[in-house]
Amino acid sequence: MKGRITSLQRMSIHDGPGIRTVVFMKGCNMRCKWCHNPETWSSNPQIQHIGEKCIHCHTCASICPQKAIQIEAEQIVIDHKKCTVCGICTDACPTQALSVVGRTISTDELWKELEKDLPFFRSSGGGVTISGGEPLLQKEFVKEFLKFCRERKIHTAIETNLSTSWETIEELLPCVDLWMCDCKTYSSEKHRYWTGTDNHIVLQNIQRLAEKRIPLLVRTPVIPEVNDTEEEIESICQFLAPYAGNISYELLGFHTLGFPKYDSLGMPNELKETKGDLPKERLNTLKKMLAKYHFKS
Ligand code: SF4
Ligand code: SF4
Repeated sequence: MKGRITSLQRMSIHDGPGIRTVVFMKGCNMRCKWCHNPETWSSNPQIQHIGEKCIHCHTCASICPQKAIQIEAEQIVIDHKKCTVCGICTDACPTQALSVVGRTISTDELWKELEKDLPFFRSSGGGVTISGGEPLLQKEFVKEFLKFCRERKIHTAIETNLSTSWETIEELLPCVDLWMCDCKTYSSEKHRYWTGTDNHIVLQNIQRLAEKRIPLLVRTPVIPEVNDTEEEIESICQFLAPYAGNISYELLGFHTLGFPKYDSLGMPNELKETKGDLPKERLNTLKKMLAKYHFKS
């Protein structure tokens, strides 16, 4: 079984219990305007150019068989429509300023990469987290890999947007120890505007997981002028309140660390000129609102 990933992140301590290795799957069915992993949107490989690493030798422009790389004011400009992602320029680039994002990997190969981390999982109570992108778009691959991990007594977690059928979720239930999902906004209208998708199915799936007492961590990425109001957080808390004893709920502060990725991939970033990090004080004020609901810690 083969799947497509963008990268692995080792030694993560924010994506489930203990020390974890996170597998980022390529391809997503949402388009959150604040996304800090835009390289996971397309399910196809993409060429990426990191400007800071470029020494302007222009080797790539002379070698590209598609003439997809031009030099404008000494800068590399890639025509992503012409680029076939053949990888010739990445091999020729002396500084690794160019790379292909997205690789196909088998479950066996992925296991070989993760096996090295077993001592960390065992000593910390950690494990494997499948993230993305949207992992459930590659359901069969994810299912086979997580089943494999479970058989080896490794803790498994999945970060999903839950914008999928209940049947798909049900298929994965036996091989996932912890579900993690976002509740980005309670309003369907806002959700459609900011993510490009409706949230009815997401809310329904959260309810069903919570009713069944499936281990679930819900998170809200708090974005300035999108959902950083008391009213918004209160609506989400009230929606989750009937299940407070069954689920955990957290707020995460928005940051702009992922912004340079948009330029490096030739992707537009609608928020570039308008959004900055969410101030810590604001996040702390909103976090205090959660106390009265007694969500599971
Ligand atoms: S990946 Fe291939 S087609 Fe694309 S810019 Fe590089 S050399 Fe040209
Ligand atoms: S080959 Fe690499 S270092 Fe040279 S111009 Fe192209 S991207 Fe920059």
